Amino acid sequence: MAAPQTRLVDDVTELLILWPHLAAALERDQGTAEGERVSGDAGAFGLPVNADVLDALRTLGAEVPGIASWAAGVVAEPPVHRSIEQHLRHFPRLHERMLVTAAVKEAAHLAVAVHGLLRQVKVAIGLRTADRKLGQFCPLHDDELRELIAPGDEGVLRYRRLDRDGQPIAPAVEWRRSDCALCRHCGAAWEPSQYLLLGRLLRDADNRRLAAEVDARGAE
Ligand SMILES: [Zn+2]
Repeated sequence: MAAPQTRLVDDVTELLILWPHLAAALERDQGTAEGERVSGDAGAFGLPVNADVLDALRTLGAEVPGIASWAAGVVAEPPVHRSIEQHLRHFPRLHERMLVTAAVKEAAHLAVAVHGLLRQVKVAIGLRTADRKLGQFCPLHDDELRELIAPGDEGVLRYRRLDRDGQPIAPAVEWRRSDCALCRHCGAAWEPSQYLLLGRLLRDADNRRLAAEVDARGAE
């Protein structure tokens, strides 16, 4: 797995590439029927303008300034009013400051938040397929029951370099597929080679939850 700083920088780079396309797609096609596919002048990115794109725009518009002011507070920087793009560009610096001031948990939180934004943007523009639910709760926690998922495939942009506008030259999309069972709540993941172990953990969790239920009934 990449070092946290590298991953955050990669995620921010991808967000900065994809973000203008989201906004441009909306301007170009406001009012089109939901789900209608449009192809943009950028060629490589024909963006569907649908509810997902609107959601992603809203999320970025609402969450990015919130994350930025929280992060500024952690590293004792005065909150500054910036555009979404400027906020995104500033995230790696805030992350670095967190790491050097031993705010490791906060740095991890910032990286997860940025990765979540990128995931949502990618779902919106068709660079990511939806997660598949596996019908089993994560065996590692009972207080918060969360279903395990198989993560959707992810399209990653590959390119040699960026042009002056920060857009990739001749980008290609490489699809990554991850065969694992994952809990998005606690981050635990099991590879196919660990499915026997996972099966045992799931059985133990079932027994544990059943016993807790019986205990609770007995106490009534
Ligand atoms: Zn979990």
